Amino acid sequence: MLLVMVVPTAGLPLMYLQVVYGPPTDHLYLPTPVINQPLNHWTQRFHSVGGHSVRTPVFEGENWSTLEKPTPTQTLGRHEKNTTGAQTQGGETGGEDVLVGNVNKLMVSPPGYSGPQRKGHLIFDACFESGNLGRVDYISEFEFDLFIRPDTCNPRFRVWFNFTVENVRETQRVIFNVVNFSKTKSLYRDGMSPVVKSTSRPKWQRLPAKNVYYYRCPDHRRNYVMSFAFCFDREEDVYQFSYCYPYTYSRLQHYLASLERRNLSYLQREQLGLSVQQRRLDLLTITNPDHLSADKEKKLVFLTARVHPGESPASFICQGVIDFLVSQHPVAQILRDHVIFKIVPMLNPDGVYLGNYRCSLMGFDLNRHWQDPSPWAHPTLHAVKQLIVQMNQDPRVSLEFYIDVHAHSTMLNGFMYGNVFEDEERVQRQAVFPRLLCQNAPDFSFSNTSFNRDVVKAGTGRRFLGGLLDDTSYCYTLEVSFYSYMTAGSNAPVPYTEETYMKLGRNVARTFLDYYKLNNLIKDKRPTHIPSSEVTSQTGNAKGSGIDRDAGDRERGNNQGVRQ
Ligand SMILES: [Zn+2]
Repeated sequence: MLLVMVVPTAGLPLMYLQVVYGPPTDHLYLPTPVINQPLNHWTQRFHSVGGHSVRTPVFEGENWSTLEKPTPTQTLGRHEKNTTGAQTQGGETGGEDVLVGNVNKLMVSPPGYSGPQRKGHLIFDACFESGNLGRVDYISEFEFDLFIRPDTCNPRFRVWFNFTVENVRETQRVIFNVVNFSKTKSLYRDGMSPVVKSTSRPKWQRLPAKNVYYYRCPDHRRNYVMSFAFCFDREEDVYQFSYCYPYTYSRLQHYLASLERRNLSYLQREQLGLSVQQRRLDLLTITNPDHLSADKEKKLVFLTARVHPGESPASFICQGVIDFLVSQHPVAQILRDHVIFKIVPMLNPDGVYLGNYRCSLMGFDLNRHWQDPSPWAHPTLHAVKQLIVQMNQDPRVSLEFYIDVHAHSTMLNGFMYGNVFEDEERVQRQAVFPRLLCQNAPDFSFSNTSFNRDVVKAGTGRRFLGGLLDDTSYCYTLEVSFYSYMTAGSNAPVPYTEETYMKLGRNVARTFLDYYKLNNLIKDKRPTHIPSSEVTSQTGNAKGSGIDRDAGDRERGNNQGVRQ
């Protein structure tokens, strides 16, 4: 009956939430029309928000106000508790303590409920590697406010979330509101959505964008809130939601261990140092050992990733680079004969482990401390900087590239940041690598690539090393969108997958062949574009030469299992 009072318009999916984590197959999202009653709390909120977001539903008709309103207690409770920053957010008791820990198997029952545990009283958990969820507020049977746990020792950063939900009822529909993002601009406006997996469907997938809303919310002091609707479908499943595809410290360790087990003569793994919490700072060196012993000066490419721990796509790119460079692909063989690659895949292992977005354990944005890293406060950065400075002074090597891999929360595509030089010729030479990469990688955008000397970027690896290294060296930040890319001639964004992030990494690696003009060394006529079937997977199984390369790419994309 309530439904009759509200006249939905085309942009009004919330009234009849077509929610969705669908049928019992591996392919989800066959939309199941659900919730045949309006979510009253939401209708109120969206009505009062009115027009602040393109996704904001518009309500027509006069009778909406007769819908049941949220009780004053609920509204008051939200206003009181949800103030501007994490420093003043209350804990479960509503106190004013700082939100420091993750929720630990927290069962959220209706207020005042004292009966036995029931299916449908959701249990939230983020006490696992790279987990992040600081607090859950029960709003109604359908709706929960979720609080990101701020970075350790730095409450300014609240973006990454990663948590599980269990004890669900079959067909239970919920709306989760992530209410305390520290950023306002977001790819959620462009269609980005959280990723989800469950016990029976272990491959991460993005939620359908139509179930995701991003808007300024009056209930949270007009903070930006990201809400998503979801329908649980299997009572025994544990569901996991995350900001982006996680790539944990342990996953990296397993991957590196599998590489080591292959005993490749051209791959060396070292522990360059330890983090504050005594995690490994790994360094890989990939080059043909015969090349190392030769007498002439060696070209050296240095690559780092995950200085910002929440930027998990950087790890997929980095793994793509490594997979390609250690493969039997003819391009990789030539590169190993001519270039030394030094790769630090995880510059901030503690931050990654802890589920931070931007900072280290001690709350430092390590990418602002290159000028003077401390051996005790920033030990990983200190060790990497020392190594780079030392290599730069070594007459036997020519350090030609430093590339630091990141992920970007508001831009599309892959792109680069470079430095600004007085010397016009150097400016032109700096643009060569991104131009070549643009030819090799359909998702890489040269037009998004920019060269700057912003004050806020002083202290970054790119800026600091750009000033330190000589004028034949180039330092870049390689960025990739957390969400999607657009290819030339199309304006439909293609969401990135774990596989397409890795593919960008493979394309970065092979671009050095063009850069160093080594193409003529490819003896056989095989195409030089990169089939993923020819590079190794994270399990370390080398595969033979691909035949139908594109098909290999596709198949790999479809079949690749997911590990964290
Ligand atoms: Zn970053």
